[in-house]
Amino acid sequence: MQKFSKIVLETKKLQKTPCRIDVLEALNQASTALSEQEIKDRLHFDYDRATLFRTLRTFLENSLIHQVVVQKNEVKYALNQLPLQLEQQVGHAHFHCDKCNKVFCLDAVSRDLLNIPKDFQVNSFEIMFNGFCAQCRAN
Ligand SMILES: [Zn+2]
Ligand SMILES: [Zn+2]
Repeated sequence: MQKFSKIVLETKKLQKTPCRIDVLEALNQASTALSEQEIKDRLHFDYDRATLFRTLRTFLENSLIHQVVVQKNEVKYALNQLPLQLEQQVGHAHFHCDKCNKVFCLDAVSRDLLNIPKDFQVNSFEIMFNGFCAQCRAN
């Protein structure tokens, strides 16, 4: 049993299934958001599509991960930062690299930076910056 996934699943009172552990460790080790295929490539066992889909659903429902929609058709997944409550309150923007198609979670954004009227309540937001990541810029 690896440490990160064990703590997370216990905190959320979720059963420690092999697929859940495998997916959590894969997302934790990645420095970018991952598509379903990219997650699959990193798993230690070839779970069927339904199992993987259910696992991602469960994580979304329990606020363990979030979805990032890239260019309207591709969905990537990334871990929420702990503590989970803070993540929900603040949120963060994403950076998409036009060259290598990687998606990075950026640091949390303060609403003061976005000029949102004081009496408006933000429930969710999506901000995507497109450009070249450091690695692609260097090449
Ligand atoms: Zn890049
Ligand atoms: Zn993110």
